Amino acid sequence: MAERILLVEDEEKLARMVELELKYEGYRVEKAFDGRSGLEQARSGAFDLVLLDIMLPQLSGMEVLRRLRRESQIPVIMLTARDSVVDKVSGLDSGADDYITKPFAIEELLARIRAALRNKGCRDGQLLTAGELAMDVERHQVTVKGKGVELTKKEFDLLRHLLENKGRVLSREALLDSVWGFDFVGETNSVDVYIRFLRSKLDEAFGLKLIHTVRGVGYVIKEE
Ligand code: CA
Repeated sequence: MAERILLVEDEEKLARMVELELKYEGYRVEKAFDGRSGLEQARSGAFDLVLLDIMLPQLSGMEVLRRLRRESQIPVIMLTARDSVVDKVSGLDSGADDYITKPFAIEELLARIRAALRNKGCRDGQLLTAGELAMDVERHQVTVKGKGVELTKKEFDLLRHLLENKGRVLSREALLDSVWGFDFVGETNSVDVYIRFLRSKLDEAFGLKLIHTVRGVGYVIKEE
């Protein structure tokens, strides 16, 4: 079934171009040209994802997002004309799933849409697994051989990212970028530190070998 995307964007030319590209990819698309009608449509429950411009007439994208989040966890990708850290921080603080800076390449937008929809699938109760390890993303629970494992938020996020990319080797830089993001302050060896925590709580505690080091490249989680 085609996923439904709501595009809230007051620049009509850009909106039309994005709409065409999304339809070409097989998505169903509706448009709104101001914040107020965008919020109204987003609330209808008829969509799988919202692309939300920040600078909008009537209600700003940030305000739309804030009001929408009181009642809905629908994935929202913010479109921002300004590559400003402040916008990104307040957008993510208000519950945006991702953001993209205009002008953007359509391929990048499509990749972010796919990622946000994939994460939604996880939130909707999908189980991520590797061998005897299972992660229930929605309930924020991790079990090994049926036994619960306590993880900190960062450990959970890192493990989730590894599981979502099971079998793919991820570099330290890629992990830092995806798990810690732009608000990261500290040393790049944080990844190694948290991998050690995960290994001790998972592999060592249960006698498994799930998290592998690929020397000079990074880490991968795979089944034995
Ligand atoms: Ca705008």
